[in-house]
Amino acid sequence: VACTAVAAVLITTSGCDDGAEPAAAPATERGTVGLALPTTTSERWIADGENMVRQFELLGYRTEMQYGEDDVQKQIDQIEQMVDHKVRALVIGAIDGTALKGVLAKAAAADIPVIAYDRLIRDSGDVDYYATFDNFKVGVQQAGAIVDALKLRSGGGSYNLELFAGSPDDNNATFFFNGAMSVLKPYISSGRLKVRSGETGFEQVATMRWDGAVAQKRMERLLSGTYGSARVDAVLSPYDGLSRGILTALENAGYGSKSKRLPVITGQDAELDSVKLISAGKQTETVYKDTRELAKVAVQMTNALLVDEKPMVNDTEQYHNGVEVVPTFLLQPVNVDRSNLERVLVDGGYYTAAQVAS
Ligand code: BGC
Repeated sequence: VACTAVAAVLITTSGCDDGAEPAAAPATERGTVGLALPTTTSERWIADGENMVRQFELLGYRTEMQYGEDDVQKQIDQIEQMVDHKVRALVIGAIDGTALKGVLAKAAAADIPVIAYDRLIRDSGDVDYYATFDNFKVGVQQAGAIVDALKLRSGGGSYNLELFAGSPDDNNATFFFNGAMSVLKPYISSGRLKVRSGETGFEQVATMRWDGAVAQKRMERLLSGTYGSARVDAVLSPYDGLSRGILTALENAGYGSKSKRLPVITGQDAELDSVKLISAGKQTETVYKDTRELAKVAVQMTNALLVDEKPMVNDTEQYHNGVEVVPTFLLQPVNVDRSNLERVLVDGGYYTAAQVAS
């Protein structure tokens, strides 16, 4: 496409890379919003991006969207470029939540407001608002699924549990883990749940960059190192991509037969591959977070800021980023298992019945 004024209006992401200055926006144009997202290796972030682009366009904004592909420096460069392009606002799903202080100072100097998307940006005084889900509750729901599946509340035996957490540079990972441990700790203390590996600290169980292959390796090590003839009964996993790696390790070690049943395995994001595994009875649950809703909140927050209104928030306490409390809008996550999968995900229009069945 030739980079003409007309083409530039039609192009939603910055498609003019012929070195020329972007064409001036027409009078009705509300300007461009920069969207920096972490990775396309997980479905949810692709959906987040598509949803935001669509909703910003409906309000008359253009968008410049970039994925950092889990490369911290690349994301910093992308944001810097958006600042250079004079975007009107930035919506950022950070890769490393502690690495953006410098580039956000540049944004602030250029009067560009910043909205942290899903993941809190830490150690910076230049984060204006935060749109996310109740991250502590995500962990509570995952642990609740374990407690329910093992019927721990109604007495019964004791079980072997292993713990996984997300990326240590993602603020959410600690929230998920702390939420889960708030439910699991009493059972671990009383001996009803035994972590045979002894690895119970966040740093010990964290998974750098949410990498499923890393989780698979760790599960393999736990199984060969500590389990022998013992069986693992439950695995706390904070994200579907990790759960699939863990499941592969378990199946390779002979789990998934009548005599060696798969453990309870949790997850998050309702990724299609994992939804199918839930349908097939291999993964126990996932925590569904409707990215359409999160996109809507972030877009409304951004628009409010740009038209000099006050964005709506519902939490002004929980999310201190090391410099200040960032005013936040929290959405509610939903626990999805085999019993409500169809009602929530298919009837709710997130997936079609054919997608789940294929
Ligand atoms: C998000 C989760 C996601 C994880 C890995 C977290 O920050 O909140 O929804 O599972 O990143 O992408």
